[in-house]
Amino acid sequence: MKILASVMENVIKRNPNEPEFHQAVKEVLESIEPVAEKKPEWVAAGIFDRIVEPERQIFFRVPWVDDNGKVHVNRGFRIQFNSAIGPYKGGLRLHPSVNASILKFLGFEQIFKNSLTGLPIGGGKGGSDFDPKGKSDGEVMRFCQSFMTELQRHIGENTDVPAGDIGTGAREIGFMYGQYKRLRNDFTGVLTGKGLTWGGSLARTEATGYGLCYFMDEALKAKGKSFKGTTVVVSGSGNVAIYATEKVHQLGGKVVALSDSNGYIYDPDGIKLDTVKKLKEVERKRISEYVKFHPNAKYTEGCAGIWSIKCDIALPSATQNEIDENSAKTLVANGCYAVGEGANMPSTPEAVDVFLKNKIIYGPAKAANAGGVATSALEMCQNSMRYSWTFEEVDAKLKNIMINIYKAASAAAKEYGDEDNLVMGANIAGFLKVADAMYAHGI
Ligand code: GLU
Repeated sequence: MKILASVMENVIKRNPNEPEFHQAVKEVLESIEPVAEKKPEWVAAGIFDRIVEPERQIFFRVPWVDDNGKVHVNRGFRIQFNSAIGPYKGGLRLHPSVNASILKFLGFEQIFKNSLTGLPIGGGKGGSDFDPKGKSDGEVMRFCQSFMTELQRHIGENTDVPAGDIGTGAREIGFMYGQYKRLRNDFTGVLTGKGLTWGGSLARTEATGYGLCYFMDEALKAKGKSFKGTTVVVSGSGNVAIYATEKVHQLGGKVVALSDSNGYIYDPDGIKLDTVKKLKEVERKRISEYVKFHPNAKYTEGCAGIWSIKCDIALPSATQNEIDENSAKTLVANGCYAVGEGANMPSTPEAVDVFLKNKIIYGPAKAANAGGVATSALEMCQNSMRYSWTFEEVDAKLKNIMINIYKAASAAAKEYGDEDNLVMGANIAGFLKVADAMYAHGI
């Protein structure tokens, strides 16, 4: 990095102790350095300095009362990162690890991901360090209501449209939506991932996992391969992992492993998704329970071991930095030839280097997992029309969007001289549209 080195220095200076945010910014700046060389007018207009600074950051207090009457205080966040091409759009993460660094990295990634979808949505992210795990429905409801009591004044269907992420599913979106409507007396598309009876879109639940497979299918096709007959390892067991598994099975592959934050299951016969859906979506249980129903399967404590399972394709769909250099090397040594990221930034920079050096078919998160937010944008579209499309209509649009993202990323990679580098391709393709809009809007 030459032209953009000072931009990176300022990010580190201005955001000390935020390693995840630094990691995400560095990767993008490295990729778009060749654009800076070609576009001195963008450098002069401070596009690169401006794009790394959120337009607005909101931190707030979230007090709530547990079932025993005890008062708790969590911290709420909304990072409104970039609105050059549309209203801020991005999920709400509820997890004890949530802090400014994590949400800024996620908000930053969201800018380029959302741009890649081809739909008019800006980048944002939010959440809280509240842990919904082990809380009663009543406690989760009181937290969500308190969270929305403050958040509602900062969002709106044309301003900022939050959605789900880790820890925020249909239940949480419902509680938050109810509170927004109560306080504002306004029935709008202000959140996505809504229930089907109150403005949600068919196929939104499936969208991130399905989209990941549509993207990878296209990337595999370009190399004369497909999912058919492959063995696949998927990490995670949330919404992304479950529907990625479902689509892999539909496309003729076999998923043999899934995980949660405690450990992973290996089922050589192929994961039985009905069991997983019942355990995770209905009963909110741990993945370890799976082996009670399928005695051929094995449960192992700890997460990193999942990457030592022999597979053709890996779909990390749990959380950031879950694949380090060693895990990446193990995957490659065991014959894995494709990696598609369902989670946001699941591979460390060293792991990404291993994949690129070994010519692994590598689908970076902001391209490969964009199907979720793309379908959120389709939900916004249906809400604006006061209309809803069928499952097949939404699914067909999603597939088309994912194919176009692959085409845009691979075309940009080719134009900038490294045909197989979809990291660079996705970053450049996502950046160009946002930068063009920012330039047009003046300083
Ligand atoms: N949380 C998802 C993501 O990381 C979806 C965001 C949305 O639908 O707005 O892209």
